[in-house]
Amino acid sequence: MPKSNASPATSALRGKFFTVVHGAVESCGHLLGLNDEPTFRNCEHCWFAYFSSHADLVSMTGKIMATDGGRDSVVRIKGTKFVQMFLRFVKTLERLKGVEGEQRTTIQSNRRFGESVG
Ligand SMILES: [Zn+2]
Repeated sequence: MPKSNASPATSALRGKFFTVVHGAVESCGHLLGLNDEPTFRNCEHCWFAYFSSHADLVSMTGKIMATDGGRDSVVRIKGTKFVQMFLRFVKTLERLKGVEGEQRTTIQSNRRFGESVG
């Protein structure tokens, strides 16, 4: 049984924007082989769906990119388009995480406020 490594943000992303239905990316209708990189190299939706379903790849690439010259290595192995789309994906993830964090903070402060009133 493969265990899911998807973070809550990744799941949210997959659920909200980048759902793959019957092998096709819902947002753009392109077919996407689960283990292949997108056929439509310029389609952001395909790349986002691809990265969304490859949490291990994303975390591994992120680690390599953070090292000295790591970005160049990834470009050499995976190509410029991969790196470009990866960075875009990570940025979106971070923005999403930021939003979730803000919501959590609001809920928590509301609760604290409510408790002190009671
Ligand atoms: Zn597409």
